[in-house]
Amino acid sequence: MTKVAAVIRADNAAEAERQSRMALENGADLVELRLDYVRDLGSSTIRKLANGVGARAIATFRSPAQGGASVAHPPQRTTILQEICHSRFAYVDLELETDREDLGRLGRLASGHRTTVIVSHHFAQAAEAQRVSEALDTCAAQGEVAKVAVPVTEFEDAIQLVDLVRSRNGRPHRFVLIGMGAGGIVTRALADSLGQEIQYVSWGISAAPGQLSLRTATRLRGREPMILGLIGHPVEHSISATLHEAALAALGVPAAYLPFDIPPGALDRFLLAAERLRIQGFNVTSPHKEAVARFVDELDGDAERLGAVNTVVLRDGWTTGHNTDVYGFRVSLRSLGLRVGDRKALIVGAGGAAKAVIDVLLREGAHVQLTNRTAARADALAKSFDDRIEVLPPGVLTRKGPWDLLVNATPAGTKGLPDGLPVPEAVIGKAGFIYDLVYNPPVTPLLRTAKRLNRPGASGLEMLLHQGAKAFELWTGQAAPFDAMQRAAKEALR
Ligand code: NAP
Repeated sequence: MTKVAAVIRADNAAEAERQSRMALENGADLVELRLDYVRDLGSSTIRKLANGVGARAIATFRSPAQGGASVAHPPQRTTILQEICHSRFAYVDLELETDREDLGRLGRLASGHRTTVIVSHHFAQAAEAQRVSEALDTCAAQGEVAKVAVPVTEFEDAIQLVDLVRSRNGRPHRFVLIGMGAGGIVTRALADSLGQEIQYVSWGISAAPGQLSLRTATRLRGREPMILGLIGHPVEHSISATLHEAALAALGVPAAYLPFDIPPGALDRFLLAAERLRIQGFNVTSPHKEAVARFVDELDGDAERLGAVNTVVLRDGWTTGHNTDVYGFRVSLRSLGLRVGDRKALIVGAGGAAKAVIDVLLREGAHVQLTNRTAARADALAKSFDDRIEVLPPGVLTRKGPWDLLVNATPAGTKGLPDGLPVPEAVIGKAGFIYDLVYNPPVTPLLRTAKRLNRPGASGLEMLLHQGAKAFELWTGQAAPFDAMQRAAKEALR
């Protein structure tokens, strides 16, 4: 079974020991002591750490050439490594390039203390699978465990690494192969099923992008992992991972929810590789919602009607596309106590979210008006429904209304975008309830204005939670722990 190692980066030995003990108490099998971060590292600190936590520690003194923080000159480095190899650590990490001259001698010294020798190599740039494979062989020839890390810029590089490990199955040596960066996260999540010796995970501050947390890794340890995630381009802004991680943790499901940044041209290759990567489900965000609807084997009723998918389930080679935005908006109306039958609603925006909202409102019997800054898009959206939808150009809005409900289905007001209202203040004042699908920030400029005008309103958080809960149920077959998801989302949005 793969050992989970929490990476400890403290700047003094006492703190490193304290954090190590906490990580071990919290379920880590090992800690990786990044000794290159410890100031004033000398024989007494090394011995103290070895006596304290060495039996369950990897001692790593990473050189700057390999991405580390040590400032030791070559003779100093050799002295420090000698001291490490003289002490009792479970593992020591020696570098293929930096320590080339001393590998044999240091390795023998370490083995004499029953320390397992890892020989590592970190590529500075993405490398061909063949070169990675050769590096693994070279490291394996020099140490008991071969460790190779290589930057992954595109999702497809990660697939290559997973395929490489599978093609090497049957070779006897112990190894670690890491795709570095957010794109390589799947190589970490699959560590156990790929037979890796150690899985390096974050403890406190993440030591490297793409590292799983200790909590996620211990949940996956020794179990057949289920990979879930979000595909989009970009994907960093989403809080879906926060919701789903909270739900998976609350129920102890052996799954990880990972971000997959897939540019439009790579979508078909992602879908082809998904099963090989044990991906059993994923959410879909911009710009893939319509394209995915064309790729999947089967669509549920909502996804088929809208021609857009935000959740995919993969089972036995069969892909089913769902649109849980429709479900999420419908259920959120109930939980917000909003009755829309026979009421007048104004929808702002003409993208995928507006389409889901209009679909629900029409089915609930509301009278829908639609406005969008690009008139042609609003016209096309209105025409895609059988029911009559009146399209209002933004210029006439102040002369129209009132409405029982105003729904903002544009990103206007989203954190990081220029502050602005999707419609003029005079229009907001004519709405009975303001529903802003934007959820970050929790109080948007639109909701602030509504409050000032004494109009009730809600953010898109409720819809987000319900669509997420539905997706979770589709993937896992279990009822989603809604409260845990809500707490995690509120915490993330504070
Ligand atoms: P989309 O397909 O890209 O459509 C965006 C729409 O907003 C377009 O009609 C666009 O107008 C309009 N727009 C963009 N920026 C604007 C601005 N500054 N002022 C006025 N109009 C603007 O996006 P989507 O998928 O429909 O999503 C829309 C919003 O809903 C996003 O903020 C998304 O995060 C949110 N959403 C929330 C949930 C939830 O669960 N709470 C679910 C889905 C979506 P043009 O046609 O002129 O480009």
